[in-house]
Amino acid sequence: MAKTTRIAVTPGDGIGPEVVAEAVRCLETLRARHSLDMEWARFPWPSHAWHEEHGESMPQDALDQLQKYDAILLGALGDPGPVDDPDRYLLSDSVSLAPLLDMRKGFDQWVCERPARLLPGARQYLADERAKDIDMLVIRENSEGEYVSQGGRLRKGTPDEVATQIEVFTRKATDRIIRYGFEQARNRATNRVNEGRTRTFKTLDGRTCESQVCLVTKRNALRYWGDMYTEAFEAISKEYPDVATHHELVDAACMKFVQSPWAFDVVVASNLQGDILTDLAAVLSGGMGVAPSCNLNPTNPDMPSMFEPTHGSAPDIAGQGLADPTAMLFTTARMLEWLGRKDPKIAAAGKELFDAVAADLAENAGTRRGTHEIGAAIRKRL
Ligand code: ATP
Ligand code: MG
Repeated sequence: MAKTTRIAVTPGDGIGPEVVAEAVRCLETLRARHSLDMEWARFPWPSHAWHEEHGESMPQDALDQLQKYDAILLGALGDPGPVDDPDRYLLSDSVSLAPLLDMRKGFDQWVCERPARLLPGARQYLADERAKDIDMLVIRENSEGEYVSQGGRLRKGTPDEVATQIEVFTRKATDRIIRYGFEQARNRATNRVNEGRTRTFKTLDGRTCESQVCLVTKRNALRYWGDMYTEAFEAISKEYPDVATHHELVDAACMKFVQSPWAFDVVVASNLQGDILTDLAAVLSGGMGVAPSCNLNPTNPDMPSMFEPTHGSAPDIAGQGLADPTAMLFTTARMLEWLGRKDPKIAAAGKELFDAVAADLAENAGTRRGTHEIGAAIRKRL
């Protein structure tokens, strides 16, 4: 018999616990309706409160505890704490992102996938009819690059201070993320055909392909990694003659994301540049309230992947029941799809949740609703 699928639920800070509550209610409904062999446990480690009490953002053995699970469902980490605390931003500097990066690194979640598709009913920020065709997947390298935390501050606090921040790019991590991008491009083309949709992309030599990978770098200024990425991209693209290729500098990519985002299919970018591009892509696809995200380890089945929305803890709206749980629920659907690789019933539940969230979005375009109201309406559809 297959083993029970186990999920670690880490609500985190700010609006995290509010949107996670809706996700857990949906999981309960799905589990009951389809008798899913799935269970979860809650790890309430809000970075601010935990830090105040224990002087660290998470228990020392946090990763050991989490590793026993098949996936981590995370709300958000990064709340700088009470508004009247003069040190809130200092504190947030030292604690907020650390546990997130620890998890990504500790479990080698080397892919960050952020789809940006303007679904019916989502807020359309671009006043162009073609915006409804926005449907891209940004793949962010999640294991190294600008986020290796190497460097330091010399002569700290003096007028002669120097800060260095080192970026590290390895050929292994470069090859695997680029290859992952090509694989996803192929999968997306197949899925489109199955759904009766097609898209076409032109190659430089005039051929027509059904999918595309766009590599983003800043190779004109950041030569070393830019050149290595470009060479790896060119070599790997030869294994995928059916996928069109394209290369953009990150500044031009930002411009084209706004000017003609419907022209992109799969986008592969470095850790920092991918982070920036995906906030932009989130807005193109309806805003932070609807943008899902996940941090995957596709190579080691013993390491849990982590599913968190693109948005953060949104301290400005926390505690008011205003946060849109749609992003969290799309993220939960993606988690079920991922876990469903081992259990088809869980995969089917993921599809059902995605369809329910999309239908709710389509039907309630432009209406103002609270966190709980949206969650309840989606649950009713399940
Ligand atoms: P963090 O430091 O944790 O990333 P942040 O201040 O950057 O927090 P985000 O969570 O990244 O805030 O969100 C940016 C803005 O988008 C917030 O100001 C918030 O108002 C809005 N926002 C984010 N998530 C949601 C949501 N689920 N529903 C509605 N609005 C949201
Ligand atoms: Mg943020």
